Amino acid sequence: NETTQRRPEWLRVKLPSGEKFKEVSETVQEKSLNTVCSEARCPNMGECWGRGTATFMILGDVCTRSCSFCAVKTGRPMQGLDWDEPRRVTEAAEEMDLKHVVLTSVNRDERDDGGAPIFAETHRQLREAIDGVTIESLIPDFRGEWDALQIVIDTPPDVLSHNLETVPDLYRTIRPQAKYERSLELLQRVKDQGIKSKTGIMVGFGEKREQVIELMQDCVDHDVDVLTIGQYMQPTKMHQPVEEWVHPDQFAEYKEIGEELGLKHVESGPLVRSSYHAEEHV
Ligand code: SF4
Ligand code: SF4
Repeated sequence: NETTQRRPEWLRVKLPSGEKFKEVSETVQEKSLNTVCSEARCPNMGECWGRGTATFMILGDVCTRSCSFCAVKTGRPMQGLDWDEPRRVTEAAEEMDLKHVVLTSVNRDERDDGGAPIFAETHRQLREAIDGVTIESLIPDFRGEWDALQIVIDTPPDVLSHNLETVPDLYRTIRPQAKYERSLELLQRVKDQGIKSKTGIMVGFGEKREQVIELMQDCVDHDVDVLTIGQYMQPTKMHQPVEEWVHPDQFAEYKEIGEELGLKHVESGPLVRSSYHAEEHV
């Protein structure tokens, strides 16, 4: 595929290096933690880890889903919940001197609680250990088991994030086990309980401009506070191919339209990821 072979110059990024980068890698390894940064082969690792920050991926490293863009392993997790994980995340955050912690997870659809208690416990331990910490958690849809969502909401982060990932017409190929309406409902439920809500999509899957605008209107209608839009990059040749390298001007236009429609904060650019500069979304 011609498109996927040559990245345009606006996607060239700094290679990982430096002292801070090394420290982050060591902490992550020592604590046996997973990060979405390395699992997703994020192009911003040089920058984020170089600034001493990372996004922890909790609930293990095996996901029960198989989104076609995602490099996380699919399978049935062999173990139950790891109740030591919140402690390790908290210690890592302390060592890294993080004032803003970003968490995400795999999906644990084999469990009724979807792993929600580990999110809640991690929030609790982080707040106990780090004075004034702010937390953003990017959560699964819990298959619409709203009791599981409530467990997270009862010990809430400062920002609750759930990614729509792409426009509804592409769910079947991109996000087969998810439902667009269910994800919108989750975002509404988060907001209805007074928590800041955030979502993210990737573009470059072949979606149309009009469809992105419709999605932004859906976000407005569901009171979403923050929307991030970034370029999809194929993590390996086995994953969904890139259909288009969306031009920076198009990203700028999406931001303008989204804010005109009524979204408070739209972060839109080729290298934007839901956890990129997340401290600005609190
Ligand atoms: Fe990690 Fe997010 Fe930064 Fe990527 S943008 S390196 S996933 S913190
Ligand atoms: Fe990857 Fe999340 Fe999809 Fe699992 S649910 S395959 S971790 S994007």
